[in-house]
Amino acid sequence: MSAPLTILGTGMAGLGLARQLRSRDLERPITLITADSGDDYSKPLLSTGFGKRMPPERLAVRSALEIAEQLNAVVRTHTWVESIDTQAGELVIGAERLAYGELVLATGAMPRAPFAIPDALVSRVFTINDLDDYRRFHAALATLGRPARVAIVGAGLVGCEFANDLRAGGHAVAVIAPEATPLARLLPEPLGRVLGECLADIGIAWHLGRNLQALAEEGGDVLLALDDGHGVEADLVLVATGLAPRSELALTAGLETSASGIHTDRYLRTSASAIYALGDAACVDGVNAMYVQPLQASARALAATLSGKPTPVSYGAWPILVKTPACPVVALPPKTTPERWRIEGEGHAMSALAEDKDGRLIGFALTGDCVRRKVELARAAPALLV
Ligand code: FAD
Repeated sequence: MSAPLTILGTGMAGLGLARQLRSRDLERPITLITADSGDDYSKPLLSTGFGKRMPPERLAVRSALEIAEQLNAVVRTHTWVESIDTQAGELVIGAERLAYGELVLATGAMPRAPFAIPDALVSRVFTINDLDDYRRFHAALATLGRPARVAIVGAGLVGCEFANDLRAGGHAVAVIAPEATPLARLLPEPLGRVLGECLADIGIAWHLGRNLQALAEEGGDVLLALDDGHGVEADLVLVATGLAPRSELALTAGLETSASGIHTDRYLRTSASAIYALGDAACVDGVNAMYVQPLQASARALAATLSGKPTPVSYGAWPILVKTPACPVVALPPKTTPERWRIEGEGHAMSALAEDKDGRLIGFALTGDCVRRKVELARAAPALLV
């Protein structure tokens, strides 16, 4: 029997691809491998779960066993793939060597860790990038048995969403970040200020323009020492300082990679024969888009390609919807530095249009009631990957 099509990763990219493949071919042998529990869950819901009082078991909609039955596939959980032998067409898992027919890397992204966590604090400092992380953080909050003081390091998308959500869940939240305003990579300063004000109105304490200098245990609290001499006391710390594509496996196997991920062409083909990549791990024709719509488009295109109909992927002008109910935010970040931002609006309803030197719209950011303009503006903006 020929070796199965093997998908490494059971996040939204890996599972999405498996579903697309099954809808085209009921018989083809498929093996899915994951380092985690393999539960089917929606990662975007992780940063809405505290406000909605959602325990981890309600976020897991299907177990790995149910996925295996539903997809007629082999699903291997808690299985860490150490390396890829591209010559032999095998994955190395401890002492085992597992042959693949075609291999798809859907290995996601991992949190960047900008500072070392003292041993004494490892049980109180967290990142949340998958359901298992959410389980651990949820358990730590439950152990306190009272509303917690949570310090979030980082004011990007994940930091801001968790800040809003934890506050909505009744916790006291402080956010520390070096930028002058939150969501600085998506929002020009005036709109970032609006978001900051709305989140301050619901009780979030900002420490912006500040770097974390040290992390220590003091009197039972975690003390976060800032570079202006101030300190923030917390029960728990959430580190949200960005994600990096998980591409070491590909790199050590000799595939073409960079800081933007595993390089692929529009057919999701990597530089090695019979190996493909998609999702947060992949840099598709120069674009690494770490959100759901691009990975869904990639899963559809790759399923067609792997079923004998070579199909290039394209991405539309798909804006990012930030889940901060205290201040709705939508942004389509420009791919190149804009010539100017045209900013208008009042109160919390602001729009910022990024224009090139010829006055063409190349991106936008919207807050408050202006988010209604997202469809009209997305129609006028250039696609992410034509
Ligand atoms: P992952 O879900 O990270 O899956 C990676 C898989 O690879 C896992 O199964 C892992 O175990 C496996 N793996 C990796 N290395 C190995 C190895 N060596 N051996 C075995 N297994 C391995 N996007 C949106 O569009 N809208 C949103 O509202 C939104 N909200 C978000 C909120 C949060 C808190 C976060 C963190 C992200 C959010 N995103 C959102 C982004 C979106 O969720 C991701 O783009 C998407 O889930 C990535 O899926 P993936 O399958 O590529 O990676």
